[in-house]
Amino acid sequence: NFRCRSAFKLLEIDDKFRLLQPGRVVVDCGAAPGAWSQVAVRRVNSAGTDPALPRGTVVGIDLMNIPPLDGAHFLSRHDVTDPATHAELLQLLPGGRADVILSDMAPNASGVREMDHEKLIAACLTLADLAERVLQPGGALLCKYWDGFLARSLQEKLSSAFAHVQTVKPNASRKESAERYFLARKYRR
Ligand code: SAM
Repeated sequence: NFRCRSAFKLLEIDDKFRLLQPGRVVVDCGAAPGAWSQVAVRRVNSAGTDPALPRGTVVGIDLMNIPPLDGAHFLSRHDVTDPATHAELLQLLPGGRADVILSDMAPNASGVREMDHEKLIAACLTLADLAERVLQPGGALLCKYWDGFLARSLQEKLSSAFAHVQTVKPNASRKESAERYFLARKYRR
C-alpha cells in the first residue's frame, strides 16, 4: 500500500546500497505524493515503530501538496531549487544536518526530450548547493535524471564533492525510458 509505484525503485536501490538505516536523517526532494517518503519512514524508523532502534528523521519537499504521513515532515508548495527552501529545511533537521538526500524530482515533461533533459539536469545541479548546506561528511545523494548530453556535467559536479559516483538503473524503471539515477556516496566537503 504505497502511494505510488515509484516506491519499488527506491526499495530496490536501497536493498542493494543500504542508504536508509535506522536513525538516519533523510531529505526527500520532489516527494509528492509521498511513496519514497513512506519507504524512508519505514527504513529509518522515523515514526518510532520499533522502539528498540534509533529513530530517524524524514523531511519531504515538493512544489505540490504532499498529504500528511506519520513520521515525516513535509514542506509542501516549496521549490527545492530555491535557497529560501534550504533555509527552512535547516530548521527541521536535527543539528541542521542530513545523512541522505534523495531526489525523484521531475519537471512537467514537455515531451521534447532534449528540453526535458536540460530542465531536469538544471534542477539536479542545484542539489549540489543543497548538499553543501546540509549534508553530513560521508553522506549520500541519490538523484533521478533523464539521460542526455548534459548528464556528464552533472556527474562531474557530483564527482567533485563525493568520493564515489555511479549510475543506477533499477529494474523497476522502464527499460525504454531515459530515466536513470546518480548515486553519489562519501560526501567530502
Ligand atoms: N518520489 C515521489 C513518490 O514516490 O511519491 C514521486 C515524485 S514525482 C516523479 C516528481 C515530483 O517532483 C513531482 O511531484 C513534482 O511536483 C516535483 N518537483 C519537480 N520540480 C520540483 C522542484 N523544483 N521543487 C520541488 N518539487 C519539484
